[in-house]
Amino acid sequence: MVKISEFDNFGVEELSKAEYDKMQAYVTKNCKCQTCPTYVKGDNPYGYCFPMVGTSKLIQREKNCVCESCPIYKEYELTHTFYCTRCSQVCQAYKSEVAAGHE
Ligand code: SF4
Ligand code: SF4
Repeated sequence: MVKISEFDNFGVEELSKAEYDKMQAYVTKNCKCQTCPTYVKGDNPYGYCFPMVGTSKLIQREKNCVCESCPIYKEYELTHTFYCTRCSQVCQAYKSEVAAGHE
């Protein structure tokens, strides 16, 4: 049985609400989405890799993803892309494990 905590790159399970908010602010501050061709101006919140931010309501079409050049991507050893349309790191990691039959 796969545990969600195994994919919790940000370690949010251990965080209080205040710590979670602080980490989200840090992610948002360093996020490169606003420089990405896929990003739709004005969409907020971004930092879509972070748990619970959710996918974008405005972005309809994937063009390119600059996540791999983002400091957050490196710092938290993220492994997916297009978080704005495909869902957060933890969400995509969980889905690919399930798809691979490691449920
Ligand atoms: S990895 Fe992508 S979604 Fe996450 S903070 Fe960086 S640019 Fe934004
Ligand atoms: S998640 Fe990737 S594709 Fe989406 S806006 Fe951010 S950098 Fe661009």
